[in-house]
Amino acid sequence: MVSIIGGGPIGCYAGFNLAKHHDVKIYEEDKEIGKPVQCTGIVTNNIPRQIYSEDYIINKISEAEIISPNKNSIVVDLRNNNLVLDRHKFDNFIAEKAKENGAKIFFNKKLTGLNKNELRFNDLTTTDDFIIGADGPFSKTAKESGLFRKRIFLAGKQARIKGNFNSERMKIYLGIGSFSGVVPESNKIARVVSINYKNINEDFNRLLKLEKGEIIEKQGGMIPLYNPKLKISGGNVFLAGDAATQVKATTFGGIIPGLIAAEEFSKGFNNYETRVNKKIRKELLLNLMIRKKLDGFNDKKYNELVELFSQEKLRTIIGNYDRDFPSKFVMRLLLKEPRLLKFIP
Ligand SMILES: Cc1cc2nc3c(=O)[nH]c(=O)nc-3n(C[C@H](O)[C@H](O)[C@H](O)COP(=O)(O)OP(=O)(O)OC[C@H]3O[C@@H](n4cnc5c(N)ncnc54)[C@H](O)[C@@H]3O)c2cc1C
Repeated sequence: MVSIIGGGPIGCYAGFNLAKHHDVKIYEEDKEIGKPVQCTGIVTNNIPRQIYSEDYIINKISEAEIISPNKNSIVVDLRNNNLVLDRHKFDNFIAEKAKENGAKIFFNKKLTGLNKNELRFNDLTTTDDFIIGADGPFSKTAKESGLFRKRIFLAGKQARIKGNFNSERMKIYLGIGSFSGVVPESNKIARVVSINYKNINEDFNRLLKLEKGEIIEKQGGMIPLYNPKLKISGGNVFLAGDAATQVKATTFGGIIPGLIAAEEFSKGFNNYETRVNKKIRKELLLNLMIRKKLDGFNDKKYNELVELFSQEKLRTIIGNYDRDFPSKFVMRLLLKEPRLLKFIP
């Protein structure tokens, strides 16, 4: 029997995979799935086919504009469209799939304590054989099982704004916070987001000056920085998603890496950590190394970087590969342009 803590996309996808062979219970602290939304909802098209649906995709992005502090910009054609998700629908879609496979979801159940097989919730104490922590960045499961260790967090602030946008193009502003971007839902509505370790309001206000529009909704949340030293399993406890810090440290996308990890539960619990590491550790580590390099950049460095990427041969490489797997293209970039060595770890 398996208890999954957290009914986010990763917990529900873990439930979907495990419920084929196990009795699965998903415990969610909120009263419904997918609210509040704390995510910009842009992903590559690497959503597992078993949970892919056009129903939750509200836009497809075919270009990325990368803008330097001196307002120079390059446009990258994305060979594979990026997808803009309705996160509420996306989360609920996966939850329904988990239920179809037999998983049971319980609401208003906040994990407050964990001792080996005993789980304590706000209004329930129960026991189970296997426990999965998919309870987000501040995972109580990780804390209670000694897997939390030291973690670094970034704050994300975002808004949906009304204005005029190119619906096929997302924008990335280099030099504003750790990450700032604009993701259009349509040519009238876009999501603007800034992410940084601190002073997030400053970054966000700078971004809003560049991307003018009427704010129709404000959102935000915390993002864990990938920690390669973490153990993501111990005894009968297994972590996945934000609870395991499985977030790309370049763009702070956590949905695809988390889903890749959760898919490993389809093969059961044996060697879960080894299998997950084999699939995503190298990529997350490379993202982290790039992040550490970027953290030391000033405006001049970003301007130089965009200048280098004005070369079509480099733009083609980054447009042809998904950012989920940087190891597939970083070497190719370096071979084409050795001057990138000083920008890439
Ligand atoms: C501002 C912002 C923008 C982002 N933009 C993107 C993006 O564009 N693309 C992308 O890929 N990623 C993005 N992310 C990251 C992405 O949102 C996460 O990586 C993703 O939601 C991780 O899913 P999860 O299921 O692991 O965790 P969550 O989605 O956080 O789900 C965890 C669930 O656990 C529940 N829970 C928590 N504690 C308990 C408890 N004690 N007991 C029971 N239940 C509990 C929560 O209520 C929640 O439902 C963004 C994050 C932020 C903050």
